[in-house]
Amino acid sequence: MNYYSLNHKAPNTTFKDAVIKGLAPDKGLYFPESITPLSKEFFENIDNLSNVDIAFEAIKQFVSPGIPDAILKTIVEETLSFDFPVVKLNDHISTLELFHGPTMAFKDVGARFMARCLGYFNQNNDREVTVLVATSGDTGGAVANGFLGVKGVNVVILYPSGKVSDIQEKQLTTLGQNIKALEIHGTFDDCQAMVKTAFLDENLTSKMQLTSANSINVARWLPQLFYFMFAYKQLHKTYKNIVFTVPSGNFGNICAGMMAQQLGLPVHHFVAANNANNVVTRYLISQLYEPKPSVQTISNAMDVGAPSNFVRIQEIYKNNFETLKDNLSSYSFTDDKTKEAMLEMFNNYNYVADPHGAVGYLGCNAYLKENPDPDAHCVFLETAHPTKFLDVVEEVVKEKQPLPEQIQSVMDKDKVSVKISTYEDLKHFLLT
Ligand SMILES: *Cc1c(COP(=O)(O)O)cnc(C)c1O
Repeated sequence: MNYYSLNHKAPNTTFKDAVIKGLAPDKGLYFPESITPLSKEFFENIDNLSNVDIAFEAIKQFVSPGIPDAILKTIVEETLSFDFPVVKLNDHISTLELFHGPTMAFKDVGARFMARCLGYFNQNNDREVTVLVATSGDTGGAVANGFLGVKGVNVVILYPSGKVSDIQEKQLTTLGQNIKALEIHGTFDDCQAMVKTAFLDENLTSKMQLTSANSINVARWLPQLFYFMFAYKQLHKTYKNIVFTVPSGNFGNICAGMMAQQLGLPVHHFVAANNANNVVTRYLISQLYEPKPSVQTISNAMDVGAPSNFVRIQEIYKNNFETLKDNLSSYSFTDDKTKEAMLEMFNNYNYVADPHGAVGYLGCNAYLKENPDPDAHCVFLETAHPTKFLDVVEEVVKEKQPLPEQIQSVMDKDKVSVKISTYEDLKHFLLT
């Protein structure tokens, strides 16, 4: 499969090159040249397939011939070494738990897949690749864990000092080896600005191969389509119209779900659940796309003012507003509503959700209220384990939460980070 740039000013390129570059030379996001739906039988017989078989069949066309089938199968197997259970809350709402991986956020799937692809591409390459990533919390941990020990790949993570949770900080500063954490005196926006400056600095990029590991990278973005299929496998015998609600920030996750639908997955409708950062909710009402600077919320992984994957969604729907609107609804919720939803799930279903999942739950309720349909079943993605947001979760449910083993194991380790303040500090760090 070849990929083209959504800015249409760079040459088309291979999967390998798209993964290594991250962003096209014209700064556009890469998009696959074609999407061939899987057979009807594939979806009818999905119960008989393992998660690895489903994922392998779904991703093959996007990766080959860059990675041979046998190696791709191993990559998929290693990526998916944990469960993706659907938990029913009531007759109309379930949650798809995506937090059973090593860092307990859905980003584990994309990070682990991308790390293994880069590792394969780099095995006979003398030139090292440096993955440069800014994080507001979850991305850093998932990338650090996914890329740990991958040959020929150095990872440099920038995070805002004092603005990520203790657990998140431990996850990205304690691994060592090829993972380096830079603690920035500033905000997440400052981290992201430094990363952007680095990608545009020809003096730097002529000396080293830089790539990104957020959802603009096709190898991080596309594998996220897997778990929509895993949910369908668990639900399609019981429910007719399956609706997915995705708590959204950069819109990579929901856009991957739409790719699953393009592959033929019978999805009835998508709902993008937003916090106060609601550019897409407003767009679907006004048809005006007006990004704004982000505001801080308790679901902070979704505090994004200008979602980078929205251009990919526009591409899937060929920039047709009506077709998009037929398939996508979006709602926006305040922090107070989010906390109420967390309490409601705890009281009614004895379910402890994190703030991002709670925004998803609200999205399901809003959609079902507006679109009454006895055959509809709405699945919201629970994108992180509640203990990753311990402060707010314990404040709301007023019960101490036990720390899962994955989290406990990093809490005892010592943090190692380098403190920097300016872009010149970053450049100096990268070049020495
Ligand atoms: C990253 C993240 C999101 C947002 O996902 P996008 O693909 O950026 O829309 C939602 N919830 C959690 C917990 C996250 O870490």
